[in-house]
Amino acid sequence: MSYVDLYCERLAPGLMAEPVNTLSNLAFFAAAWLVWRRAASAGAWRARGRLLAALIALIGAGSFTFHAFATTWAEALDEFPILLFQLVFLGLYFRGVTGWGRAAVAGFLAAFVAAGVGAAGFPAVLNGSLVYLPALAVLSAIGAGEAVARRDGWPCLLGAAGTFVVSVGFRSADLAVCPRFALGTHFLWHLINAMVLALAVLGLLLSARSGETR
Ligand SMILES: [Zn+2]
Repeated sequence: MSYVDLYCERLAPGLMAEPVNTLSNLAFFAAAWLVWRRAASAGAWRARGRLLAALIALIGAGSFTFHAFATTWAEALDEFPILLFQLVFLGLYFRGVTGWGRAAVAGFLAAFVAAGVGAAGFPAVLNGSLVYLPALAVLSAIGAGEAVARRDGWPCLLGAAGTFVVSVGFRSADLAVCPRFALGTHFLWHLINAMVLALAVLGLLLSARSGETR
């Protein structure tokens, strides 16, 4: 039986051979719940906040399924919600907060996807984490841009970018620490990334609100 073995914790094929990598995805459901609750007070952005909360839950469900089954079909379930969340987040930000036109947003998203596809061609670099570098760069730029624009979301957005550096570090270190620590560090990528997603969406909602009230 062929299976996807990318992670330190997995030693064999089969269901639940990565219990810690699988169960640590519950953190995404906690993050989704937190964002869902905060979206209730987001005024005009309530539905958009809840959409992003639902997508965070979908990321958790996809990643849970992937680490539980470790098959190529489950890997697609892991990757698609992450891409969808990124595109929806960026689309909502550039349309709703910075007020870019549709064509500019579509062009940006196309370039973003192209950068990710290009980075995916280097699976040996940073243990396959290079695909997250475009997202890290854009999130950092958005945080800095919000600080310059003096909208309220910038501390959360820059905090999300800084926290993302830590989570990508743990994702990259997983196989390297394996000889000394049998669980690896991939589960920390899940736990810390749940925080990254929650912080990013809370920052987006804060910036959207402070942009409206001006
Ligand atoms: Zn994972």
